[in-house]
Amino acid sequence: MKAATLVAPERISVIEVPQPAPGPREVLVRMRGVGLCGSDLSVYRGHRTVPQVPWILGHEGVGDIVAVGAEVDEQRIGEQIAIEPNYCCMRCEACRRGFTSACPNRIIVGINTPGIIAEYVTVPADFAFPVASHVSLRDLVCAEPLTVARAAIRRSGITAGDSCLVVGTGSQGLFLCELLVDAGITPHVIEPHGGRRALAEALGAIAAVESDTGFDYLFETSGVPAALPPALARLATGGTALLIGLSTEPAGVSSFDIVYRQLHLVGSLIYDHPTDFADTVALLDGGLSPSRVLHAEFPLDETARAFEAVRSTPGKCWIRLD
Ligand SMILES: [Zn+2]
Ligand SMILES: [Zn+2]
Repeated sequence: MKAATLVAPERISVIEVPQPAPGPREVLVRMRGVGLCGSDLSVYRGHRTVPQVPWILGHEGVGDIVAVGAEVDEQRIGEQIAIEPNYCCMRCEACRRGFTSACPNRIIVGINTPGIIAEYVTVPADFAFPVASHVSLRDLVCAEPLTVARAAIRRSGITAGDSCLVVGTGSQGLFLCELLVDAGITPHVIEPHGGRRALAEALGAIAAVESDTGFDYLFETSGVPAALPPALARLATGGTALLIGLSTEPAGVSSFDIVYRQLHLVGSLIYDHPTDFADTVALLDGGLSPSRVLHAEFPLDETARAFEAVRSTPGKCWIRLD
């Protein structure tokens, strides 16, 4: 079978690799689509080191179950599934508390276990979520990043009628906007890239102007350190900031700012197994159409071109395998 592999920083090669066989509690998935995001890009650029090369890339994948391991119900063959690409251990203290995103033993697809831009992959059966056949491939391929956005909204506690500011409308910001609008909230957005801002507006968001302040909630998706202090300044006293974008650089916020304005700062990392993924899949079954965030589709053989397109294009790039 063919797989898209990183052979050196910024060098991708589609090569022949052995087709995997499912272990007792795994399913074999014929892949149909894989979305690309910023974390794939940091692997591609060599900013996140991988255990070996060639390394199969990608983590936002969907497909069909074509075989199952000995301990998995054979009825699952034929299911259309979305892969939850963070295999928490379900045994540690964090997992037992339901806080699986903090699992220290977490296996992260595409980072510490091979990725899934391949014709076939094996996945633990519990991390392959069945999705109704009426959900289109284009909507389905958004399931994983949509779950990240949905988990941030869940952790924020925002409800209909609250005001909020979304900083950055890369695909994560766009999925947030769509979910917020779906929940009866009109997000204001800050995004320097005109095309990305226009996509957010098409989803129902409003471009924030200088005088828009006093927001109840902030969702920071850009990860740009310099963007954080001015965004926090736009929160109402007692407001809540959800930090989703990542940077290792200090962001220049004083405790004075936080304490005097009694702000709540919440870090939101991926999602917790299994409820966040299950709830997102239910939203897709219910008709939410996140594929409006998809931008460019590439065949497997053009994975290298897809990675080049990720940085510059508004909306999401994805690899279509079916
Ligand atoms: Zn991703
Ligand atoms: Zn764990």
